[in-house]
Amino acid sequence: MKTAKLARSYRVEDGAKLRLKDFDPADSANFKSKEEAEEKLQKDIVRMADLQDKLYAQDKWSLLLIFQAMDAAGKDGTIKHVMSGVNPEGCQVHSFKVPSETELQHDFLWRTTLQLPERGQIGIFNRSYYEEVLIVRVHAELLKSEKLPPPLITERIWKERFEDIQSFEKHLARNGTVIRKFFLHLSKKEQKRRFLARLDEPEKNWKFSASDIHEREYWDDYQKAYEDMIQNTATKQAPWYVIPADHKWFTHLVVASAIVETLEELNLSYPRVDAAKRKEIQEASKALLKK
Ligand code: ATP
Ligand code: MG
Repeated sequence: MKTAKLARSYRVEDGAKLRLKDFDPADSANFKSKEEAEEKLQKDIVRMADLQDKLYAQDKWSLLLIFQAMDAAGKDGTIKHVMSGVNPEGCQVHSFKVPSETELQHDFLWRTTLQLPERGQIGIFNRSYYEEVLIVRVHAELLKSEKLPPPLITERIWKERFEDIQSFEKHLARNGTVIRKFFLHLSKKEQKRRFLARLDEPEKNWKFSASDIHEREYWDDYQKAYEDMIQNTATKQAPWYVIPADHKWFTHLVVASAIVETLEELNLSYPRVDAAKRKEIQEASKALLKK
């Protein structure tokens, strides 16, 4: 199976009819085991490194990868594994936590805008402005603490935020930022298993957070918020990938193949030098050989 095709079946460009319950978090396509997937993943990682080198050399496009998920879905591990082959000079990861006082002094797209990738770069957002239609929607009190003028807080606010996000992403796409968004789709059962492992295994204890367990009580509200978010913000220029997340090795494989697929679509190549530059190169090489 070609991995590029593999990723395509999880890509959502028009979310109107999307139902999360139609996506199985435990799906692993035709792959039976981690070992079987590993070989393909390694090939994709090598391919990605080559494509990133060209992206960087060309210095025209930039790639923005956005990761959103429930706790323990494996965002961090996916970023670590999938990006393991790329040159750190051409790639930055930003994690967005609870907004600071300074950040709350601005509109909700401000803090992420500051961290957008430059041309030639891959930028990874571990959480993003999408938190503004997820946790902020699930916990209404957060919206109240955002310092918005009260007349602007109406029942239309989520629709308005979807519109603003769509326009913003359209603007970025029209300026050369290619956006791909990943929702790591974990089952409630697998989340429980991973939380228990955090409690049981000493080397995973540091990841345990009591608030993560508390958020689990809002599971259904979150699923609804994710579904609505994808329905309203999946577009051709900035598609969502709904990635099965119960098998980490499969998550890594699909994300890697989606990135490779995206970079391949850009038909990247190294910049060609003009005649004057070629002459300069020939002369430099002659001069060096003489010494
Ligand atoms: P992660 O959970 O992503 O692995 P972490 O455990 O290191 O990261 P946390 O302290 O859990 O870090 O920070 C992320 C928390 O910040 C999440 O609960 C997330 O929902 C919250 N958050 C992120 N952006 C916003 C926002 N715009 N408004 C409110 N809360 C937000
Ligand atoms: Mg956390």
